[in-house]
Amino acid sequence: MFNKILGKFSQDIGIDLGTANTLVYVSNKGIVINEPSVVAINQKTGRVLAIGEEARRMVGKTPAHIVATRPLANGVISNFEITEQMLKYFIDKVHSGSSRFLPRPRVVVDIPSGVTEVERRAVIDAARAAGAREVYLIEEPMAAALGARLNVQEPAGTMVVDIGGGTTEIAVISLGGIVTSQSVRIAGDKLNEDIINFARDEFNLLLGERTAEDIKISIGSALPLEESLTAPMRGRDLITGLPKEIIVTDKHIREAISSSVDILARAIKATVEQTPPELLADIMEKGIVMSGGGSLLRRFDERVEKETQIPVHITEDALTAVVRGTGVVLEDLDGLWEVLVDMEENQTPPRL
Ligand code: ADP
Ligand code: MG
Repeated sequence: MFNKILGKFSQDIGIDLGTANTLVYVSNKGIVINEPSVVAINQKTGRVLAIGEEARRMVGKTPAHIVATRPLANGVISNFEITEQMLKYFIDKVHSGSSRFLPRPRVVVDIPSGVTEVERRAVIDAARAAGAREVYLIEEPMAAALGARLNVQEPAGTMVVDIGGGTTEIAVISLGGIVTSQSVRIAGDKLNEDIINFARDEFNLLLGERTAEDIKISIGSALPLEESLTAPMRGRDLITGLPKEIIVTDKHIREAISSSVDILARAIKATVEQTPPELLADIMEKGIVMSGGGSLLRRFDERVEKETQIPVHITEDALTAVVRGTGVVLEDLDGLWEVLVDMEENQTPPRL
């Protein structure tokens, strides 16, 4: 009883541990943190210097012994200790403000669907070490679907595509479970890399990652645009070693990213082809739902429609869909526990 009353005040936390951005949702408050998943480390001492926005400002601008890393860049926890420190930093940031008499928070963390058992344990241990009372995992496409306010528990097919920085998650959901899914290691980061390679090969121009990303966002597209867009591309001339600026068009960028865009569109098509016909009928009616920053690439939705012959909808506020999905779970842990990842601790409905 006492616990139940305390529970009303306890601040449960939902975390979207994205490869590019980490978002934190607090029950009864909403999204309180939205920062890049970057950690700056002093390699001489092994100490963490900065996390999040502050660390991102250091990328590419640090002395040799300081490295700004993205511990989740490849979609998996490539560096467990750094990930743990990052989780702890974000949980502390939220929890330290609340009274020490309140119970420690319950935490829902989303993970890419391709993550191994060992990596799942690692996330749970990291969140526990960071002060969580209980930890629940949810697969990213499931969280994205909940964030888009789709009813994932009905006996009907729902298809979700979440394009982040490091991975693209494609999944078909029905009856609270994932029927088929695919995790592709091609997403926003790969497009930036494509633009860097293109600039080097076509113009002998060396670009920084941030510049490539800015250009992708300002003029990138998956299909030709009605009105041409241009942007300045600034970097170092690889022949003279001096700064150089070239004006590029949307056509250049489309060419640069086209093979990655093709791979993504075909991966989505392949998942459609593996979907049982009854579920496919539902999906054709409801459309494919896309989320994640990468889904905002101009005319990518139309490219996928062409490839699959199914209508595509981009979720409102695509960059926050996943963390809002963890929020939906926090509001109704009892009703939604079946959509969580089937770990030992997730097998019984959570109680307060
Ligand atoms: P993650 O969940 O992996 O952290 P996000 O969903 O936060 O990733 O998306 C980050 C990716 O989305 C980055 O690669 C970024 O460049 C890309 N992105 C953000 N906005 C746009 C846009 N308008 N057009 C194309 N790509 C975008
Ligand atoms: Mg994401």
